[in-house]
Amino acid sequence: MRHRRPRGRSIRRCPQCRSERLVYDAALITGQVYHCLDCDYVGSFVIETDEAEPAEG
Ligand SMILES: [Zn+2]
Repeated sequence: MRHRRPRGRSIRRCPQCRSERLVYDAALITGQVYHCLDCDYVGSFVIETDEAEPAEG
């Protein structure tokens, strides 16, 4: 199932500290996990949110 989002882009946030500084870690067996640079959270679950950036100019 694929949802097309008309506007904005998907932002991934850390579920623990809400940081956007997530990097993609290549895990061995489980596939991929995210690694938060701020709180060291590691996991496949992240918050995905659409944040429409205000159009400036
Ligand atoms: Zn975090």
